[in-house]
Amino acid sequence: MLSYQHAYHAGNFADVHKHLTLYAVQDHLLRKKSAVTYIDTHAGRGLYPLAAKEALKLQEHREGIDPLWQARAQVSDPLLAEWLSHVASVQPDAARLSHYPGSPWWLARGLREQDALRLCELHPGEHAELDTQALPEAAVRVYGDGLEELERRVPVKTPRLCVLIDPSFELKTEYQAVADSVVQAMEKARHAVIMIWYPLLPSGAHHTLLETLKGSGVRKIWQSELFLREPGGERHGMYASGMLVVNPPWGLDERMRSAMREITALLGNESRFDARWLVEE
Ligand code: SAM
Repeated sequence: MLSYQHAYHAGNFADVHKHLTLYAVQDHLLRKKSAVTYIDTHAGRGLYPLAAKEALKLQEHREGIDPLWQARAQVSDPLLAEWLSHVASVQPDAARLSHYPGSPWWLARGLREQDALRLCELHPGEHAELDTQALPEAAVRVYGDGLEELERRVPVKTPRLCVLIDPSFELKTEYQAVADSVVQAMEKARHAVIMIWYPLLPSGAHHTLLETLKGSGVRKIWQSELFLREPGGERHGMYASGMLVVNPPWGLDERMRSAMREITALLGNESRFDARWLVEE
């Protein structure tokens, strides 16, 4: 049994990058009435108390949501300001940051009666926590492997499909497995919007994912990376967070660049944001 628990990392800079991208993508999808099926292949717990022992151990939110929360009254970028107002909406005491919302919460937030949501989680402990979250009835929790569920469900019955793939990458083989799943899903649903999160680690393991997708024939893959610091130096582990969006909605690049100008300034001197096409149209 693998041991990753997102509660140790909730609200870190990678979560900010991932959930802001997810929010901007969903915001765009909500502009049209036609129904969307959302599939969250690696859902986690849904909501993370920052006073829990896991969050207190590493306190990664200090280099993520905390500085943004502290600056929320001065934020001028509209996307970031809106996103922070949603973070504020989950706080029992609106003046204090005590909880950080995970992807199930972000996806459920925008769910309309015509939409569907499937939240996949493999690990019994995490699934039990997800079960305790108050989510709309249309949010179906799936106890099992997220990539297998994606293969089973696609093509979906709704006109549109939006997928978040956010594995823990505890196994190196996951980079290849994720790339293969994306290619397979795109063969069956060419207009799907698929978001894939990946870590940038000193090992460079994410290149397997990027190179496989580049050579796969899948078009329109937008790539963005949020650096907390440059690789090397005294600190080990993840130095940047990566997001791929297949079939990104119009305007995503500009909205994210604008929000990230404020975010990187708040995250510190070494922080920077890069975005480009991994594969153009
Ligand atoms: N997407 C969540 C969010 O943004 O709030 C965080 C997900 S966390 C990075 C990865 C989650 O995937 C963990 O909760 C882990 O238990 C779960 N997991 C690991 N392998 C899985 C698999 N094969 N299928 C579904 N879930 C899996």
